[in-house]
Amino acid sequence: MAAADPDCLFCKIVAGEIPATIVVQDERTIAFMDINPATRGHALVVPRAHARDLHEIETEDLAAVAAVAKLVAARQLERLGAAGVNLLNSSGRAAWQTVFHFHMHVIPRYADDPLRLPWAPAPGDMDDISAAGAELAQ
Ligand code: AMP
Ligand code: ZN
Repeated sequence: MAAADPDCLFCKIVAGEIPATIVVQDERTIAFMDINPATRGHALVVPRAHARDLHEIETEDLAAVAAVAKLVAARQLERLGAAGVNLLNSSGRAAWQTVFHFHMHVIPRYADDPLRLPWAPAPGDMDDISAAGAELAQ
């Protein structure tokens, strides 16, 4: 596994050094709630191994991330009442990437929600993020 990057925010989440509302974890990946959610239930799936972006991530890790994104997306429909899902990865500053540890956004979409991409990140209500995370966990 690639060494953790000591300056990387998501490596710190993977290591449990900073808190996150984790919804799924397996050998290769962790999925946790985005703290600036574009919609209710917005989650991120990351490989445990540090990789900067789409160009650096190992193919096996990308496949593992995709599988967990599919699982989280299904739960967003079943448990949160979403009507659709956007999967989004930003690779490179020009593509809006701001955290340089690969992550797949799993953004539930609700009928007629007002979201337009790219969204303007703003802090969410942590109680509601935790509640949505609890609905997506297990
Ligand atoms: P991107 O702009 O595609 O690189 O996405 C980075 C995402 O990480 C943004 O949607 C942020 O809201 C999210 N984010 C940043 N810090 C944290 C954190 N500590 N916990 C959860 N999500 C975070
Ligand atoms: Zn990292």
